[in-house]
Amino acid sequence: MKTGLVGWRGMVGSVLLDRMRAEGDFATMTPTFFTTSQTGQPAPAEAGAGATLQDATDLDALAAMDVIISCQGGDYTKAVHGPLRARGWDGYWIDAASALRMSDDAVIVLDPVNSDVIDRALNSRVRDFIGGNCTVSLMMMALGGLLREGLVEWMSVMSYQAASGGGARHMRELVAQMGALHNLVAEDLANPASSIIDIDRKLTDGMRGNALPCEAWPVPLAGSLIPWIDTDVGGGQSREEWKGQAETNKILGRSDNPIPVDGTCVRIGAMRCHSQALTIKLTRDVPLAELEQMVANGNQWVSFVENDRDISTERLTPTAVTGTLDVAIGRMRKLSIGPEYLNAFTVGDQLLWGAAEPLRRMLGILSGR
Ligand code: NAP
Repeated sequence: MKTGLVGWRGMVGSVLLDRMRAEGDFATMTPTFFTTSQTGQPAPAEAGAGATLQDATDLDALAAMDVIISCQGGDYTKAVHGPLRARGWDGYWIDAASALRMSDDAVIVLDPVNSDVIDRALNSRVRDFIGGNCTVSLMMMALGGLLREGLVEWMSVMSYQAASGGGARHMRELVAQMGALHNLVAEDLANPASSIIDIDRKLTDGMRGNALPCEAWPVPLAGSLIPWIDTDVGGGQSREEWKGQAETNKILGRSDNPIPVDGTCVRIGAMRCHSQALTIKLTRDVPLAELEQMVANGNQWVSFVENDRDISTERLTPTAVTGTLDVAIGRMRKLSIGPEYLNAFTVGDQLLWGAAEPLRRMLGILSGR
């Protein structure tokens, strides 16, 4: 398959490339690397000796591909995808950007959960396969077992989302903010006799003043949180919150009979793992042990964590999960509200299953791997 890679240099794209190399994916394709800014420079070794980067706005070069996989961003998708289709290109378009996600002609890919939807789409000649929102994909990876059994009547999702969702600049600024906070009180910390109230006051003054860099984030994230992610869609809901229901049901192929999903999406000072606290209304009362089994067996990447204090503290954190393909889920218990109300907590790396991995696997499905 002639495969064009666009946006491979960015944050999602470089995680994708690492995964493709780790899994030997390049053996089953002929890759061409495109760029919007470095045309003519040397391409990665996988393109072959002497190969150079091609212009990502050259429709003739793009139209020669069987598959294009883009991690370049929504503006690029909007500028190129339409004109490419308009000139009759009917190759496969795989995309990390949200621009085409809700299009009727596109399917959101998360094959451990919706391989049936993907298969049907391939049979009916769908050509656009788009990665889902990171928070939604991670939640569905964790809950695949319950969703498959039709056990979810509705869900409330409270998210604790990492800086990487904002991009590389935001991750760097979070770390810079952490350093600036420490600098404010480094001397006091070195003195065991210093007052913690004074330390706290200095930090608060610094955060409320302009001691922390805030060019990427609108306000300090280090030592604080931001209770709004993405734009305002009206009715008091953020776009990130809106995606919960819209994308969950599109992924499941049941937008006409949607499972209600809503909650509050919050940015916290984690680097690249999103965490989510889930309240699930079950369609019927099922014993907890059975629910745990269903969740644990949802797919091979679910890492079920026993609801024990020490084990949860050790294994159900961004620190434990980051950089792995594990989607950890634990804190499972019936809520005191009633036997049909289930509590759970899940953590996943938003650059892997939240972004790059579903795209890489879609490429694998197309090339028959
Ligand atoms: P990004 O890091 O900003 O990279 C996008 C492009 O910027 C690169 O491919 C590269 O394109 C160009 N670029 C310019 N200067 C660069 C530099 N110094 N280093 C690397 N690349 C540079 O974008 P991203 O965060 O990966 O996001 C890409 C798309 O995926 C977006 O649509 C985003 O919404 C979506 N997405 C992101 C996440 C996430 O967590 N960040 C999750 C899911 C989906 P050229 O080679 O053409 O110059």
